Amino acid sequence: MSPPLSGHVLIVDLAKIPAHGLRLETEIGPAELALPEDEQLSITAPVHVQGRLTKVMEQVYFHGSIGGTVVTPCSRCLEVVNDEFDVEVRRVFLPLGSNRIPSDADEGGVTDDLDVYSHDGLRINLYSLVRDQVVMAFPVQTLCREDCAGLCQACGANLNEQPCTCQIESGDPRFAVLKHLKSSEST
Ligand SMILES: [Zn+2]
Ligand SMILES: [Zn+2]
Repeated sequence: MSPPLSGHVLIVDLAKIPAHGLRLETEIGPAELALPEDEQLSITAPVHVQGRLTKVMEQVYFHGSIGGTVVTPCSRCLEVVNDEFDVEVRRVFLPLGSNRIPSDADEGGVTDDLDVYSHDGLRINLYSLVRDQVVMAFPVQTLCREDCAGLCQACGANLNEQPCTCQIESGDPRFAVLKHLKSSEST
């Protein structure tokens, strides 16, 4: 699904950005973000975008924050974890085809950012910026808690809730391997 081309608050006519800047606050639904398939299911609630657009000559600055919740299963026990994020974002949009980075950091540190977005001279489209921030907010590894015990490899029981019987019986899984070796030796 591709994002709408016009008429949405994340697509702004440059002519409508006044000298003092344009304040913007909106919620973007998961479907509108057009996330990669793997990530799509993990964003179940709208992503909140707020900030200000300012124009300096042909350069448009966005300074604001992007927040939401990533819903992913714990890497060990598969319990669903809600991971909230709220990131401060400062980005510059340059005219298409321009790779000129603003020479002085009048917007405070913006020149340090490698991610430079572009606009077509008429409109600024904030979709890719928001999408990139959401994708970056995905945790590399989700843990429901630091010491999550995970699932039993044998029976699949959630060991955070209680130790399962196979663990009590066989103990250390390395012994199970030894037991297996011994029994195959004897045959
Ligand atoms: Zn867990
Ligand atoms: Zn078990």
